[in-house]
Amino acid sequence: MSKVLPCPRTFERLDEGVTALAALVFDLAGADLPEELIERKLAGLQGLPVVFGPEGAPQPAVSVIVRQETAFVEAFDVERFDLEEDLAAFQQDEAYSIVTGENVTIRYMAKQGLLNALSTLKQLLSRRGDAFVLPHVRIADYPNTAVRSVSTTFAWYAGFSRAGFDSQLWGLSEWQAFIDTCSDFKVNQVNMCMYGYWPFRFDEFPETTLSNYPMKVWNKENRAWIEIAYSHPNIAHEFLSELIRYAHARGIRIFAYVGLNSYNGGYANVHVDRRAVPPSDKYLNDFDSLCPSDERNIAYLGQAMRRLTELGLDGIIFEESEENYWHCNCERCRQRYGSVAAETFGPSPADAKHRANRELMRTTLYPAIRSVNPDCEIGIRMLREEPVEKPVPYLEAARDDLPPDITLYWAPGPYCPESEFEKWVRVFGPERICARDTEGSGFSASMGRLFYMFPSNLLRPDKEHLHWSIEADIDQYVGAVRHGCRGINGYLFEYTGFFLYLFSAAQYGWNAALPKAEFPSYALSAVFGDVLAEAILTVYRRAKIVHESQSPICELFFPFLRHKVGSEDVPLLLEAREENGKLLQLVGAVRTLVEADRDLRRWALHFEKLQHMLVRQGVIYDLCLATIRYVEAADPVERRRHLLEVEALNEQDFALVRDFYLDVNPHAQTGIKVCGLPYHELKRTIGNLLDPEHCDDTPIYLGTEILGFLWI
Ligand SMILES: [Zn+2]
Repeated sequence: MSKVLPCPRTFERLDEGVTALAALVFDLAGADLPEELIERKLAGLQGLPVVFGPEGAPQPAVSVIVRQETAFVEAFDVERFDLEEDLAAFQQDEAYSIVTGENVTIRYMAKQGLLNALSTLKQLLSRRGDAFVLPHVRIADYPNTAVRSVSTTFAWYAGFSRAGFDSQLWGLSEWQAFIDTCSDFKVNQVNMCMYGYWPFRFDEFPETTLSNYPMKVWNKENRAWIEIAYSHPNIAHEFLSELIRYAHARGIRIFAYVGLNSYNGGYANVHVDRRAVPPSDKYLNDFDSLCPSDERNIAYLGQAMRRLTELGLDGIIFEESEENYWHCNCERCRQRYGSVAAETFGPSPADAKHRANRELMRTTLYPAIRSVNPDCEIGIRMLREEPVEKPVPYLEAARDDLPPDITLYWAPGPYCPESEFEKWVRVFGPERICARDTEGSGFSASMGRLFYMFPSNLLRPDKEHLHWSIEADIDQYVGAVRHGCRGINGYLFEYTGFFLYLFSAAQYGWNAALPKAEFPSYALSAVFGDVLAEAILTVYRRAKIVHESQSPICELFFPFLRHKVGSEDVPLLLEAREENGKLLQLVGAVRTLVEADRDLRRWALHFEKLQHMLVRQGVIYDLCLATIRYVEAADPVERRRHLLEVEALNEQDFALVRDFYLDVNPHAQTGIKVCGLPYHELKRTIGNLLDPEHCDDTPIYLGTEILGFLWI
């Protein structure tokens, strides 16, 4: 391939020729580097021997001359490439140049630069028959930002509304493959979300870990449910420390991304009397935070942070609870945080939360982490509630109330003017800002395994409160780079099927100059080649999501897709159903080609899942159409017939789900029934309509993540 992801800063095609090769022969005379680093990095090139010294190399072989430089200007031919001479130290460390022809010459300043050069070399090589070919190019390259991170899930609301899906179920080998992919795309930090029951052993508080968690899984062999005691893969076979070492060897730092007194282990489920106290029983989510005035809770949180730090992480990022409509109403919390809140920016519960959290950070969490590892970076996601536009003195007070070396992993996003972000840059300084609100993937991951990425994926985008998409994420990255921020962060709350979110963070953290309109096609071509790229992008752009909760029969409010379909949507649904048939064929063809290609085979599951999503989507269109017929019918017999049809389609949807995914049933350890798949709630509603004398009045909410939004 001649396209490289992320797109290099300068890329010159020297001629149209290519060099065929059967081996790479490294000449390390000018570099003091372990051969192992190079072998490890190029291990994914199956069938291409990598040797050190000319003896015994299969022919034709291409020599790779590796030169470590001490002076940037000489190394990178600054004038020729029009490079800035005053690059920051991190940019010089990561910079590299590579020239390919009959030989390859790599120049770099620091180890990270060589790793980046090898990532580029891997992508330049392509297979031709049994051999490889290299195009003739000259590249000089360095990144925009020091921190190019992605946030992915290791445990996400584990034990609160799920056991896990996607990367939450990965073991060591899947994580290693993911780290290799991140490294190849020059991502240099992975933040692993750990919300809910802890995904690691914690001997002092074993009840707070995701161990022997009872759940029913579909036993396909017997066509029946079977109860198992599930333990997180990192508890069944501890691998996190090994993964951290693996990542470090590839230039990647590993952070944990946890709640700030929010979903910290299963403690709030086991010790119900230590939860924060809501002002009334109207608020369903009373299990997310612990009362911050209870000394037992403070002791637990301090110990949990020490344990977390002992895992060997490079950093820990804290996120404030998304509950902003109340704060602990116990007598002590009202005295400690409520009265103070009234004197400043409005007497809001969110403000009481901020004050309590900052005190907890200063007095407990920060010292606990520092006591184990003084170098562990500490980040925070705070002040995220509406109104998002906040007065400068309010931001300054928050800044002055926290240790100055805490970095920010949140700054304003796509729902407010860019001037609000600029305010944060001025108050906190660009050197502290490592991320903005780029939660396109979080939005996608809330859809019960259905596909969302672009606004064009929605049936009626104009009827939704839509701020998030991959394009909105890119705008945030570009803004952060424009203001010289320390880093960017992309979310991968669901990765399989959604790899373009990874590609966008990789591209724009490294080089924000690529026009947004060109990005999807460029990135997909770089990885899959031009033909597959066009097919994948067609599926990505044209897939039309209709979530089961959009059926008018679903009584529960789903804040992420608010439009309930009605008779006016019938033409759109029919059109989407027809298009879906074509997209299914297309994604099936992509899957077949990917599975047959030894270099692309590792992406096959992404397309199998996309195919599955579209099959399900076809059933959901029919379910919605049947529901509309039910709503419109006047005759009771006809209504019942339509209702039975809806019931059968709901079962058909769920049969697909339970055959494909592990964790598909409601969870209720908090006392509130929750499931990210609307099947169960629809089944309850349909059952109540069919048999009103035996009503089930217990709703099954559509994800823990929506509970804080139900009052909007
Ligand atoms: Zn309290």
